[in-house]
Amino acid sequence: MGCDVCSKEIPRDTGYMLSTTQAITNPRYWEFFFRHYYPQQVEYLGRNGERLASYVLGRAADNTGWALCESCMQMYSINKSKAHQYFETWQQTGRLPSDFGTVDFAPSFDAAKKGWKLAFGTEPMLDAKDSAVPFAASVHAVQRTMEMKGKKWWKFWKR
Ligand SMILES: [Zn+2]
Repeated sequence: MGCDVCSKEIPRDTGYMLSTTQAITNPRYWEFFFRHYYPQQVEYLGRNGERLASYVLGRAADNTGWALCESCMQMYSINKSKAHQYFETWQQTGRLPSDFGTVDFAPSFDAAKKGWKLAFGTEPMLDAKDSAVPFAASVHAVQRTMEMKGKKWWKFWKR
């Protein structure tokens, strides 16, 4: 099977399984993605990242696991033996850990913005007309409200 980050074939008995949260809250993932796949995705992202918020929102809705090759795993500081075990279990049974659920949008969006800057050296020019931008702003508003009430906002947010 192919690596979900670089698309290269994952050799037998190697490989790691990450949750979407683990995969896309890492700026280095986005840096890699923009460096290698931006030209193919430009119509969805916009020339200057105008639709980045919508794009990240789509990614964050993905509740499947991410299979990674050895080389892509180097981008992550995540327990490798656990991630490898998840990969093996998934190959044998098709099962993923129960906490591999839907992702928090705000930290994923922050990671994507950082990754954009790492890849291109500029901030993405977010378009206020991007339907997810008001949504992103509202997530931050929720975050602030919940912090004031002493609650963990992501628990509130998570579906
Ligand atoms: Zn890879």
